[in-house]
Formats: sequence, C-alpha cells, structure tokens
Amino acid sequence: MVRKPRVYVIKLNRMAIILIGLLALILLAYVILTNQRVIDVFNHKPNVKTIVVDPGHGGIDGGTGKRGDILEKDINLDIAIKLKKELIVEGFNVIMTRERDESLEELSQIKASRYRRDLDARRAIIDANRPVVYVSIHVNSSTSPSARGIKIYHYPGSEDGRELAEKLAQAIDTYLYGQFLKDESLRAEVLYEDFYILREPKYTGILLEAGFITNPEENRLLKDEGYKGKLAYAIKKGILEYLKEAKR
Ligand SMILES: [Zn+2]
Repeated sequence: MVRKPRVYVIKLNRMAIILIGLLALILLAYVILTNQRVIDVFNHKPNVKTIVVDPGHGGIDGGTGKRGDILEKDINLDIAIKLKKELIVEGFNVIMTRERDESLEELSQIKASRYRRDLDARRAIIDANRPVVYVSIHVNSSTSPSARGIKIYHYPGSEDGRELAEKLAQAIDTYLYGQFLKDESLRAEVLYEDFYILREPKYTGILLEAGFITNPEENRLLKDEGYKGKLAYAIKKGILEYLKEAKR
C-alpha cells in the first residue's frame, strides 16, 4: 500500500514521455509533409523550380494523322525536347511526360479507354512533380488548307492559365513571327477550352497547338529545325516572363 503511489507516479512520467515523443514525431511528420522547403533540403535542390513538358500522343497514337511525311506525335516530341534543353539552361528541373515514341496508358491504374488512361498518366506525372507550370504540346489540323497559326489554350476561368498563355503568345509574336519569320501580320492566338489536360491537373498549364499540319506553309515550317528551335526559345521566354511578373 505504501509503495503504490510511487509506482503510479513513475508510470505517469513514462506515459508523459511517450506522449511527448509521439507528439514530437507527429509534428515532425507534419512539417516534412507540408513544407516544400524541408523536402527541398532533403533533396539538396533548394529553390529549383520544376516545369513539366508534355509532348502529346506517341506510340500507337500518331495524333492528328499523317500529312505528307510528318506525324503530329513526332513534331510534338521534337519541339518538347528543344524546349527541355532551353529550360535546363535556365536552371529549371524539367520533367517530360515522355522522351520517346510511346503512349502512356500502361502507367494509369484507372479503368477507362486507352485514350483516357494515356491522359490520366500525363495528369499523374504533372501532379506528382508539383510544377510551377506545365506545357502540353500539340499540332493542329483542319479541313481548310488556309487555316494556320499557333494557338495557346488555357482552362476556362483560370487567371494564371490565361496570363501564362498571353505571355507565351507575346513571346511567339516577338521572337518567332517577328524576328524569325519577319512577318508582323502574324499573331499567336490565346483561347480557352475545357480540355482534360487543362482541367484535371492541380497546377497551372497551357496547351499549345504549334501550327496546322494541313497548311502547306506551316507543314513546311514544322519540318524546319530552325523554326522549331525558335518556337521552343519563344515558349521559354514566355514562361520566364510569366514567372517574373507573378513572382512565382
Ligand atoms: Zn494533338
């Protein structure tokens, strides 16, 4: 009877220590999981911004159909690789949804069509890498051979998406249409559309249609390495301008 209270006190102290220890662990886990800077310290990459580049289609999915000797999927990848090189020079961490001629549906766990699983895999790659922006690259087609021009789509109602699209359009007008093609009458167009790849990811992005494969002049330009290189350069300049202005 005399010793019981002392045992009771010791038990309480042990329990308090265990409780404090548990609370400290929970707090630490919370800080690690919620604070990006802590994660960056672990990765030894403080302040490195990630950009995801998404070349549309690939593998069995050629894209908008063969016109002459070029396929949309190949042009998309070519421009994307050029953009990756431009962004790496600026110190960005660049993640590509694909770097070769492949479709991505096998990376998706959802039960849906091959097309939808391919898009879901792209969304998952974008979200997993928490990019400051992402850029999805495509090529347009039309039944009218006269249809031409670069079009940049953002998600309807997304202010950040619209700003990013406008910065890209300005840079394309300056560097690609102005400096490279020396045609002041050409203008990149900013549009909005409820595309899956603009709606589903949690981060700010745009979809760029790099021109019309069905327009004879743009079909020729989309085979020109100089043209595609300048387009990649202009996309980079637009991204830099967007990040600078928004202080992101
Ligand atoms: Zn496409």
